[in-house]
Amino acid sequence: MSHSSQVLIINTGSSSLKFAIVDPLSGKEQLSGIGEALGSASPRMEWVHDGVEQDCRLDAGASHHSVIEILVEQILGELPVLSEELIAVGHRVVHGGEYFSSSVLIDQQVINTIDQCASLAPLHNPPALKGIRAAMDEFPQLPQVAVFDTAFHQSLPEHAYLYALPYSLYRDQRIRRYGMHGTSHQFVSERAALLLGRPLAETNTITAHLGNGASITAVQGGASVDTSMGMTPLEGLVMGTRCGDLDPGVLIHLAESLNHSTDKLKNLLNRESGLLGISELSNDCRELEQAAAQGHHGAKLALEIFCYRLAKYIAAYTLPLRHVHALVFTGGIGENSSWIRERTMHWLGALSYELDREQNEATRFGAEGPISRSGTPVALVVPTNEEWIIARDAAAIVTGGLR
Ligand code: ADP
Repeated sequence: MSHSSQVLIINTGSSSLKFAIVDPLSGKEQLSGIGEALGSASPRMEWVHDGVEQDCRLDAGASHHSVIEILVEQILGELPVLSEELIAVGHRVVHGGEYFSSSVLIDQQVINTIDQCASLAPLHNPPALKGIRAAMDEFPQLPQVAVFDTAFHQSLPEHAYLYALPYSLYRDQRIRRYGMHGTSHQFVSERAALLLGRPLAETNTITAHLGNGASITAVQGGASVDTSMGMTPLEGLVMGTRCGDLDPGVLIHLAESLNHSTDKLKNLLNRESGLLGISELSNDCRELEQAAAQGHHGAKLALEIFCYRLAKYIAAYTLPLRHVHALVFTGGIGENSSWIRERTMHWLGALSYELDREQNEATRFGAEGPISRSGTPVALVVPTNEEWIIARDAAAIVTGGLR
């Protein structure tokens, strides 16, 4: 791989398309941008190159394809050197089902399989396919690689991924735990081993990715052995607007006694619950911290439930690992919220964790390092970099397996 190789990364949501050009060796971002409100009456696009921000309005109804067209014609058209350095396009795909345990070069069969997995991730896989098709049209000369959120968790043992439902639902419908945020858990667990100065194969970590979506993973010697998100991203921790773990009987009650439709339930569980639902104020951790400091009861309660649930999972995940070399906080909340970390570490006093308050306050806004007192179980903050993993995987695949 020459020093100047770059990977274009594409990450599509239902109405957005994020793109970035990343150096797979250093993780340095050369260009990044987003097209938003796609398909609506007033879609827009903005991007940053060399610290200079630019934006433009798109035609009403502009699609994912329109964003990539502008990227090629307008943005890269003016950056011929950067365009020439591109060696691959890396696509973030949420659900790879049981088919993909690592990243793959995209061909027609891979596209068909991602399409098949769409029934497991109806909100996520169809837009990813739109991004893939548009990038294949606009960059026909470049190899395209799919990097799956679920792939890292394909190492889960049966006893961790099966639900206690009739086995036929797994056999016939593939209903099981898949887990998400795999690229982030992989990245921070590898980085933690480096920081600890231990070989990855002999390092056990519990990685807590806390953003708007949140999940936690037990990583044993570089392999995921349990994770909190399930068949869908709804299970597990309390999130910005998702409920996480819930008695399934509540759903039956809501459907039978309150006549909730499946659409209403989907909305309730995905968009109206979590920090927002409990606080009746916001899904944004910063806003909740400010409100809690001023005595807002709902905000305090939401943050406390978030930390308590997180601490319970951390305690549970020490079980498969036996010895935990580090607990790792990452994601927007994990990297920045000293409040959440402090309350979680307080609950973890039962497992002898002790917070170094000064370090906890100092390790924010992109800083990396320990926040536990020396001589006590290690807790680290490690900023995540999912784009770097995607760039690295894509480069490795197109250059013949270098990593
Ligand atoms: P996404 O899952 O959308 O990628 P992020 O990883 O960016 O989300 O995390 C968003 C969350 O991080 C929000 O709840 C936000 O309030 C929180 N966050 C960001 N900065 C801070 C901060 N300085 N203090 C507390 N929370 C923060």
